[in-house]
Amino acid sequence: MASIALGVDVGGTFAKIAAVSPDGKILRLDEMPTDAGDGAKPFVGRLLRLLQIWRKQGIRPSALGLGLAGDVDHEHGCLRLTPNLPGWQGFCFRDAFKRALRLPAVVENDANAAVWGAYATELKRRPRHVIGVTLGTGVGGGLIVDGRLHRGATGTAGEIGHARVAMSGARCHCGARGCLEAYAGKYGIVRTARELLRARPDSGAVLRRLVPNLKALSPKCLKAAADQGDPIAREVWRRTGTVLGWGLANVVIVFNPDVLVFLGGVSRAGNWILDPVRRVFHEHPFGTSLRHVTLRCAVNPNGGCVGAALLALEDRSGR
Ligand SMILES: [Zn+2]
Repeated sequence: MASIALGVDVGGTFAKIAAVSPDGKILRLDEMPTDAGDGAKPFVGRLLRLLQIWRKQGIRPSALGLGLAGDVDHEHGCLRLTPNLPGWQGFCFRDAFKRALRLPAVVENDANAAVWGAYATELKRRPRHVIGVTLGTGVGGGLIVDGRLHRGATGTAGEIGHARVAMSGARCHCGARGCLEAYAGKYGIVRTARELLRARPDSGAVLRRLVPNLKALSPKCLKAAADQGDPIAREVWRRTGTVLGWGLANVVIVFNPDVLVFLGGVSRAGNWILDPVRRVFHEHPFGTSLRHVTLRCAVNPNGGCVGAALLALEDRSGR
């Protein structure tokens, strides 16, 4: 197993760790709590202990890729800034892994890693130009240009969630107002649902029955309610998808991709979110690029690990 790589996808609550073959197959998968409050160094220590157990069981990787939520300095393998992993800023993961494991390590923004995972394993025809959009608590993205991950000048290319879609609008987790994420991130979708439920007290019976406590509102139950014909849930998806369509139309017009692929938990809403995006694209008069692009939803929930591992293998072979 000389050419397998480890891929680690670090979320705010859990980290997924996978041993991945060069063709993107997961050979082993584990999960451990991130315990972000303890800091980055103890996290790395716990991860190393797990990997030592794997080594004893015969898993001998040749590289390691780490996907982190935040602004990642890919060149130096450090985390510059992150709202989700407080206290982890400035930690140089690449050096820590290199010292402890004697393995080349790649540190990547988690959305970039997930988009690369989906590109390498789910878009079999390998289109040349792809935009990936991760829809979860936040909204992230990654760009593939001419078959390669495009990181940009500072490694922060593809941060679609913080493109502004409203002049002065809802507050985003980044601190700005009117970001796409403030409408299409989980918290934005739930806020839209609460506003509609308050404004239309006689509507939304299915949704109110499914979620008696509005604190438990989630994209998952909004999809279930929409499937059952609930008018408020359907209106939430129509509004969310429309704003998403506006934001993404700007990117598609500038970038002219072949495929736009959605990833992450909220993308499981499928056509509830794709249909309004398609409608916005279709109605736009400047439409060549908007009608060329194919919309897809990725299905592999472990694409972040796979992408991080494959980027590590690619980096190693490119040296
Ligand atoms: Zn923002």
